[in-house]
Amino acid sequence: MIVYHPDYQKHVLSPGHPESPKRLERIVERLKKEELFNVLPPEKASVEQISRVHDIDYINTIKNMDFIDFEAPVHPETFDIASLAAGGTITATEYAFENKKPVFALVRPPGHHSGRDYGGGFCYFNNVAIGVKNLNKKTAIIDIDLHHGNGTSDIFYEDSGVLYISTHQANIYPGTGRIEETGKGNGEGFNVSIPFPSGCGDNSFDLAFEKIIKPVVNQFSPEMIFVSFGGDAHYMDPLGGLSLSSPGYVSLCEKITNLAKNVCDSKLCFVLEGGYNVDALSEVIAGIVGFWYDKKIDYEFTNVNDNFDTGKRIVEKVINVQKRYWGIINSS
Ligand SMILES: [Zn+2]
Repeated sequence: MIVYHPDYQKHVLSPGHPESPKRLERIVERLKKEELFNVLPPEKASVEQISRVHDIDYINTIKNMDFIDFEAPVHPETFDIASLAAGGTITATEYAFENKKPVFALVRPPGHHSGRDYGGGFCYFNNVAIGVKNLNKKTAIIDIDLHHGNGTSDIFYEDSGVLYISTHQANIYPGTGRIEETGKGNGEGFNVSIPFPSGCGDNSFDLAFEKIIKPVVNQFSPEMIFVSFGGDAHYMDPLGGLSLSSPGYVSLCEKITNLAKNVCDSKLCFVLEGGYNVDALSEVIAGIVGFWYDKKIDYEFTNVNDNFDTGKRIVEKVINVQKRYWGIINSS
């Protein structure tokens, strides 16, 4: 199932900006071509629902079109469309939870760089965090965008009821997501950062899934799983240096889907974050939704380039830090 609304394409940051309406346009086109476009319409999130995550003063700065960040300019339509993106995530969450079926919320603007009282990195409201808070169950968030979801990590940093795991490229925007960031207070041990250097791809991600993500999520035993899905870790992406191929991306998401089936009865919600090569982004999303409906997709972008020695070293470093909290081991 897909959650989508045509108004998501009315959001334009600035002319020529990579986070453009073209992204969803191409995804919708591709899903229609593959006969995978089964849509559930969203409703706008109320201020009350948004305020379960964001401070009311921050919500009002967006409503009143005040400045928040150079990379998140506020226009007259921003508040309404960002509220519809948050609402779409709530719609997707409720559908997935009630029907025990995976849902993909194809929303814009994205959300994972937005914290309680700040925006940035093309993000205004944190859609995933709003979905999590409105469901209010024990939740695991797996963030596979190229960038660290600093907003989501911040929001749940002291919360033991929400596990946040992020794979991302090291040492790029927003600069957070170091291995040593493990959570604080009650939340200590519930924040897992896997920062891959440039060049890491399919096998490195597969190792991170098998050695860290799968066992940690299993042990945490959530009632619901969210995926902050960014397509910008693809080797075709113009912003990033990671090198997942389309089959590598889809295989990772298939494994996450199977994990959700075993751990929480397929209560699984994917939410769109970044991804700026529209051809690669749309074929990966078609592959993921195709897997849910048993439909095979033909891929154009299949090159496997992986700096696996480096990737493996990072996975080992993460295990050495996280084994204080979880039953995970380095086998070598
Ligand atoms: Zn990103």
